[in-house]
Amino acid sequence: MTTTAPTLARAQDQEARYLMSTYRRQPVLLAHGSGTRVWDSEGREYLDLVAGIAVNVLGHCAAPVRAALEAQAATLVHVSNLYHSEPMLEAARLLVESAFPARVFFCNSGAEANEAAIKIARKWGQRHRDGAYGIVCLVDAFHGRTIATLSATGNEHYLAPFTPALGGFDHVAPDDLAGVAARLRDSAVAVFVEPVQGESGVHVIDDATLRALRSLCDENGALLIVDEVQSGMGRTGRWWAHQHAGITPDVMTVAKGLGGGVAIGAVLAAPGADVLEPGDHGSTFGGSPLATAVAAAVLRTIEAQGLLARAVSAGARLRAGLLGLAERGLPVAAVRGRGLMLGVALSADLAAETVAAGLRHGVIVNAIGTRTLRLVPPLTITDEEVDEAVRRLGRALGDAVAGAGAEAPAS
Ligand code: PLP
Repeated sequence: MTTTAPTLARAQDQEARYLMSTYRRQPVLLAHGSGTRVWDSEGREYLDLVAGIAVNVLGHCAAPVRAALEAQAATLVHVSNLYHSEPMLEAARLLVESAFPARVFFCNSGAEANEAAIKIARKWGQRHRDGAYGIVCLVDAFHGRTIATLSATGNEHYLAPFTPALGGFDHVAPDDLAGVAARLRDSAVAVFVEPVQGESGVHVIDDATLRALRSLCDENGALLIVDEVQSGMGRTGRWWAHQHAGITPDVMTVAKGLGGGVAIGAVLAAPGADVLEPGDHGSTFGGSPLATAVAAAVLRTIEAQGLLARAVSAGARLRAGLLGLAERGLPVAAVRGRGLMLGVALSADLAAETVAAGLRHGVIVNAIGTRTLRLVPPLTITDEEVDEAVRRLGRALGDAVAGAGAEAPAS
């Protein structure tokens, strides 16, 4: 049997043949990773500021993740939710201790966590609001790709091929508190909000607005649901981004970083919102011993390694470095976000060009639209890596401005 060395050209060919074309992938075949760095099939090294889109919070192949995977793989990988298992209990306890008094339902992704939250809101409405089921969402939200979560997302671009949307979702601008209040007085039973809107370009919903939404929910007998799928797990410098505002939600959804690279999602419901009963909801894989053992390890490691403080200091250093690029005349107009969840607003439509040039210069960043770069690196990124990433990004921006070709040397 002949073995074929993995090459980008072969991967692209096989992809066209065997995979649905749902992604516009960058022309790179990633082969292995360690910490903040990944290497491609040609042996080129990159600083990965995307980190699986806010997933690899401890970096690639982190020791605690590997240890938990190996130990649990040798003990018990999967059992049905018809039975108890220890790792799920431990992960739930640690999650609740990081957040607010609540109970947890485990699933496998952010969209699934949000589906569960929507079901909680609907059942809560049946029980407490005469069957009302409206949910107020924010303009520019992103809550997932299932029909219900797409409907909550409300973005025509994502939704158009799959209409009709599920009813009951209404979108209001974040600063339109009067609009939120009117809908809550009418028939809405919940407000659904990402404390930092990641997919739309890293827009922080300011603390005063979050507090106002909390008050409006209290005044109108509605649930406040926070989607911390991207902003959670310490990324903004607190365990959960809503904690900056000093509020407590009724329901919180979690995924991405929770498994440190392993698929897992969760929804937390405070006692007043904890309405699901046996038979209401379920998931074959949700909360498997393997996934929850890793989640528990990730939660313990963030605490043990002081990574909330690290997100603050590394985030400040990264932000300063990015603003320094602007001072050098590179097209950085503003840096948005909190901690290690940053959006770089460019002053020209150069996001795609910068991403491509970044690959040539050894830094991985993500384009949102034509003018924003998203940076969500591991919380374990070192100061030296931050500085090096900024230098590489500076070169990439320089290339993008110059419209330089692919011959720019990697450095
Ligand atoms: N909610 C938010 C805020 C997200 O950023 C995402 C994914 O980017 C999701 C939900 C959906 O998560 P998943 O892709 O795991 O279904």
